[in-house]
Amino acid sequence: MNEARQKGLIGAIEAGGTKFICALARPDGTIVARARIDTRTPAECFPDMATFFRESAATHGDIAAFGVASFGPIDIDPASPAYGTFTTTPKPGWQGARYHDALGQFGAPLVVDNDVNGAALGEWLAGAGQGARTIAYTTIGTGVGTGVLRDGRSLMGFSHYEMGHIHPSHDRALDPFEGWCPYHGDCLEGLVAGPAIIKRWGTSLDHLADDPAKIALIGGYIADLAADLVLMHMPDRLIFGGGVVKAPGLIEVVRQRTEARLNGYVRNPRLDPGLATYIVTPGLGDDAGITGAIALGRQALAQ
Ligand code: ZN
Repeated sequence: MNEARQKGLIGAIEAGGTKFICALARPDGTIVARARIDTRTPAECFPDMATFFRESAATHGDIAAFGVASFGPIDIDPASPAYGTFTTTPKPGWQGARYHDALGQFGAPLVVDNDVNGAALGEWLAGAGQGARTIAYTTIGTGVGTGVLRDGRSLMGFSHYEMGHIHPSHDRALDPFEGWCPYHGDCLEGLVAGPAIIKRWGTSLDHLADDPAKIALIGGYIADLAADLVLMHMPDRLIFGGGVVKAPGLIEVVRQRTEARLNGYVRNPRLDPGLATYIVTPGLGDDAGITGAIALGRQALAQ
């Protein structure tokens, strides 16, 4: 414990729409204390979060840095005065909430990224992205989001990427569904996110595995994103996770359609015939987010 105290511990937070996973970890990633806090308003769950870190630090040692992988939209630009602040989220009470206000009492540096980038980082360190220099990690569940990492750092512009809202080719004769995104209708998220599938067919995609046409339709839309990711970022590997991707047969369709979309234009040994090693599913499952949050804390420690 003395060694841990000297080095300082990392406070890690994986913040999702239904729960916060908080962990106190050694810099090597070993978790020494962990708690689950229900997501309510920030006035309710931020104090619970601070209490967990105060009490676990009293037992295990001082916190030297925090890493936060959070739902958003959230300002993740370290140079911005609003760094760590929720921006346009429709979630009641969250707009304007800031992690620094809840964690400033510890006097430790803080790195904040969004949940998709955090999970991408976890996969890069300890999951399906290991050994790759550039990865694109996409999650398809309630929403659709992609994080692109290079050498373990998430890429961004003035904000985090929003690639779930690109428009795939939509043949309305084949798929008359108008889409579900309140901003764009039939953007990718509007066509393939879990709620879009339920609205269109009345059940989730994993219950439609015996209907190859439906799997092919959704897989084709996702392949449009996959091909665009190749063209725009030339990643060493594409990882697709989230509830929708668990539907049997879907990832195989995504591989086939992505290869067809690229049509031999991009040639590199990384793009194996059939793309079975190029387009993969996550290796970590539910632990990707907290693993990534600890890694963000390690980045804060190095600052
Ligand atoms: Zn959209």
